Amino acid sequence: MCSSDLSNPVSSAHASSNPLLQEHALPPFSAIKPEHVLPAIEQRLNTNRERINNLLQGLTNPTWESLVLPLEAWNDELSQAWSPVGHLNGVKNSDELRDAYNACLPLWSQYSTEIGQNTELFKAFEALSNSPEFANLSKAQQTSIEHELRDFRLAGVDLSGDKKTRYGEIQKRLSELTSKFGENVLDATQAWSKQITDVSELAGLPESALGLLQQQAQQRDLDGYVITLDFPSYMPIMSYADNRELRQELYTAFVTRASEQGPNAGEFDNSAVMNEILDLRYELATLLGFENYSEYSVATKMAGSAQEVLDFLDDLATKAKPQAEREFAELSAYAAETLGLTELKPWDITFASEKLRQQRYSISQEDIRPYLPVDTVIKGMFETVTRLYGIEFVEIKDFDTYHPDARYFEVHKDGAKIAAFYLDLYARAKKRGGAWMDDCRIRRTTQDGIQTPVAYLVCNFSPAVGDTPALLTHDELTTLFHEFGHGLHHMMTEIDVAGVSGINGVAWDAVELPSQFMENWCYEPEALAFISGHYQTGEPLPQELLDKLLAAKNFQSAMMTMRQIEFSIFDMRLHREHTAANPVDAATIIADVRKSVTVVPTVEFNRFQHSFSHIFAGGYAAGYYSYKWAEVLSADAFSSFEEEGIFNRETGERFLREILSQGGSRDAAELFENFRGRAPSVEPLLRHCGILGEEAA
Ligand code: ZN
Repeated sequence: MCSSDLSNPVSSAHASSNPLLQEHALPPFSAIKPEHVLPAIEQRLNTNRERINNLLQGLTNPTWESLVLPLEAWNDELSQAWSPVGHLNGVKNSDELRDAYNACLPLWSQYSTEIGQNTELFKAFEALSNSPEFANLSKAQQTSIEHELRDFRLAGVDLSGDKKTRYGEIQKRLSELTSKFGENVLDATQAWSKQITDVSELAGLPESALGLLQQQAQQRDLDGYVITLDFPSYMPIMSYADNRELRQELYTAFVTRASEQGPNAGEFDNSAVMNEILDLRYELATLLGFENYSEYSVATKMAGSAQEVLDFLDDLATKAKPQAEREFAELSAYAAETLGLTELKPWDITFASEKLRQQRYSISQEDIRPYLPVDTVIKGMFETVTRLYGIEFVEIKDFDTYHPDARYFEVHKDGAKIAAFYLDLYARAKKRGGAWMDDCRIRRTTQDGIQTPVAYLVCNFSPAVGDTPALLTHDELTTLFHEFGHGLHHMMTEIDVAGVSGINGVAWDAVELPSQFMENWCYEPEALAFISGHYQTGEPLPQELLDKLLAAKNFQSAMMTMRQIEFSIFDMRLHREHTAANPVDAATIIADVRKSVTVVPTVEFNRFQHSFSHIFAGGYAAGYYSYKWAEVLSADAFSSFEEEGIFNRETGERFLREILSQGGSRDAAELFENFRGRAPSVEPLLRHCGILGEEAA
């Protein structure tokens, strides 16, 4: 590497043959090979280290131009090398690529710790924020600097030597423990299985589920059927198996995974892991000056405090509970009359609910499919946002691709290209499941002007079969609109500051606003009139099917809401009440939460918390409420369109101007108020879920 020539770090002969180290307007997918990955990332990271060192040495009075702009450019260069690697790892995996990808992960984590704790860099940002120049910067620039300072502090930059060391030890131990938590859940899930040779014991199961259980037996060289605790096996039994003892046995095994209860009691027990995680999170939070971990968690979120979150959840619980109780009473009555289940046990609820659902709404996703051929849907989705925001889409056929399924579109406004995206819709081998949006290029100011944003939109739909085009279910339609909503948030940004443009710098509990918001059009007859069209006749989705779809959508929605609230309150209270002086455990909190929130029967041995990976192995600690929080925002934002017209161009323009284009440049609460003219209200969400509240019911 040519370290003396920092303005041209890729000038060596070796580097120039590596496509990941060359400058491209779009990723050179066809040229990228697994062997390019590690050398490119190593070189980019080392180059950045040297650049930052050199920058800091010569820097006396940091300005936006002398400090932030170069860092933005170097970070962008780094992410342009990494983004296609991450994308290919997701959509065109191979053993070689996965190895190369994984080999880079520790380099990344080391690099980000180094940057986060770089005192000199922190001081440079501090000096800029205290300089007279700061007042003259744009709001986006100021927010970006404030976020930087916040993140340095949350990375422990201004701790004394001892405490910095302790911070590092805690983080290291936490990453071991959270990974151990996940391993215990996985091992406990895999440790249990049950063979059944008499098919009559599986009465009630649909053919597809029986086929899966049979396949699981064959894979183990066993006769008959094998049930496991994996979801595709667990759910059909709980939903359809007439055999009540079997449901009870499976339920017991499932809710006691990784605990001191149940069939594998004590073998993969997460109890000690959870307590140590809670101890260390508390210590980490207090080390950084927070009262407890919940306050540390909300410091980067839209919610102002843990108390505000708890008040929000309590309010929602109070409003949803009466209806949840009615739904449960209705289910109990139905189960007693029709199914002979006089007392509903936890292992009966899914089963009885499924029977009631089928009786009431005989609708299957398969009924909807013929009305949602993919080309009609995409055209309709584009038409929806053309009406809302006045943008146009142009498909570009000639681009450097990695698979024939991938398509590439440009987004135009007033004749100018403002963004672009890749659309990769179909499931195939070597492609990760699920759906997601990721950024390929961010919008920012460069020396050559504005770099326009580029997104990846990825789904896993069934491809066309023979002469039949790809047909979507309604769930898939909603998924597509959801990801498109994230994509628009990234692409429609008008912020040029990298740290807060698009989805960058948007609070965790607000980031699902634009995505859930877009889903609403999938339920509107006026929109479905052109989003749908039978693949043979062109006929839009009939009203009768739409009515059934809408009714089924809200089936037991209050019960489901209460369940999400139970998880959210438990998570928040646990991370708030567990302190060094009072190391309250999960079992105590969950028991207390259930007293006021749960409307369905539960059993003492239920240890769901021992497999609650979102908060113990994922990023949702003291943040599980984010799902409900963002749902309130998206429903309330959409209610403006309900009031003013779902295709009202002015309302669309206002949403674009106040929220969608603003990225993370201002507080999410402020953006929301600017759009809605008031603070968020939970009423629209409750109404959309069919939860009317006691007084209205
Ligand atoms: Zn999402």
